[in-house]
Amino acid sequence: MDKQLERVYEAVIARNPGEAEFHQAVREVLESLGPVIQRHPEYLEMKMLERICEPERQIIFRVPWMDDKGEVHINRGFRVEFNSALGPYKGGLRFHPSVYLGVVKFLGFEQIFKNALTGLPIGGGKGGSDFDPRGKSDAEVMRFCQSFMTELYRHLGEYTDVPAGDIGVGGREIGYMFGQYKRITNRYESGVLTGKGIGWGGSLVRTEATGYGTVVFAEEMLKTRGESFDGKRVMVSGSGNVAIYAAEKAAQLGATVVGFSDSSGYVVDEAGIDLDLLKQIKEIERGRVSDYVDRRSSAKLGTAGSIWDVPVDVALPCATQNELNGEQAATLVKNGVKVVAEGANMPTTPDGVHIFQDAGVLFAPGKAANAGGVATSALEMQQNASRDSWSFEYTEERLTDIMQNIHEQCATTAESYDRPGDYVLGANIAGFDRVAKAIQAFGLV
Ligand code: GLU
Repeated sequence: MDKQLERVYEAVIARNPGEAEFHQAVREVLESLGPVIQRHPEYLEMKMLERICEPERQIIFRVPWMDDKGEVHINRGFRVEFNSALGPYKGGLRFHPSVYLGVVKFLGFEQIFKNALTGLPIGGGKGGSDFDPRGKSDAEVMRFCQSFMTELYRHLGEYTDVPAGDIGVGGREIGYMFGQYKRITNRYESGVLTGKGIGWGGSLVRTEATGYGTVVFAEEMLKTRGESFDGKRVMVSGSGNVAIYAAEKAAQLGATVVGFSDSSGYVVDEAGIDLDLLKQIKEIERGRVSDYVDRRSSAKLGTAGSIWDVPVDVALPCATQNELNGEQAATLVKNGVKVVAEGANMPTTPDGVHIFQDAGVLFAPGKAANAGGVATSALEMQQNASRDSWSFEYTEERLTDIMQNIHEQCATTAESYDRPGDYVLGANIAGFDRVAKAIQAFGLV
């Protein structure tokens, strides 16, 4: 890393102790920005990097709720309003026991650049709670969401901060939170949350968008080598809506998706995943990977090693941060992987990224490859603002255009800095540039 940027990084670490994921995300961005500060030394003078690394506002709050037996529980809620240079803070809410300030800040930081890459008017933010929805009844999830929103609502607004889902937060949770926001404020303010149900202000394609967009991005990468998804073997990790709809779009483009996973293990299905069965188990029954194996004869439960031991042409990590390490990256490379596109946020460890890049594998970071979800959230906001709703076909066309445009921006930016094919550098610089220019225009803010 450039010496001056190293100093910025050391200061960020000192100011935010114990937040390993945030440090990792900051380091990855700063490592790309050396050539930018050579071209624009004024950014150092105006402390642009320090400004972008410091959230505009960080909110931490108590979330008390009662379980079905009458026992009281206290969780912690977070919302980090990271950067509003390009629009209202925008980013999901994650409900998972691993959530703490360092995770929310890494996600919020990534979101700034991701949202900038979409070209749409959205700033960056993220939130969530250490609440674990697994094993909770609907009534418990409802009481938790209502309590969470009873505190968070005062910080939100369609021109201020617009949350959506992330891990552990889907249509059900958004429904409970929207209902509570509407009740407290007495406003039917559709644009205050995205990922809403289709009958009450949601957008078609929002559920599919992150996964579909990741595959569109990967298809663009394949095209640069004169290839396509047709006939390729693909692995997705995870089995949430990112993984399911990445698998669906890859299959639509002619690929065979040979496996998926959840926190309890992984499945290899050489016949290609049965998506209807996977949706039934994960979206309706909220079951586990073993339920899939029980009902599908071609499927095997992975026992040793990891999902990344299986030879594939395209790997789409769609589960969670740091799920694909250096050793697993080396195995994928040895087995001939051509393209890796991150459907999750920061799923590849830094040594894994370097192994892919050194081996000439086309590697797309999450902030570029998974931007389709938040981009479609911005399309949902557009529909809400104009009190309109668009068709599936039209919305998907817009999503595809946006993803192709992000690919183009990353590729041309990398080329203009003499690093063709370096999507990490391209995404970080193109995203940073848009945010920095806006901040510069606003004066010292
Ligand atoms: N949680 C998603 C992400 O990581 C979507 C956020 C949104 O739609 O606001 O980008």
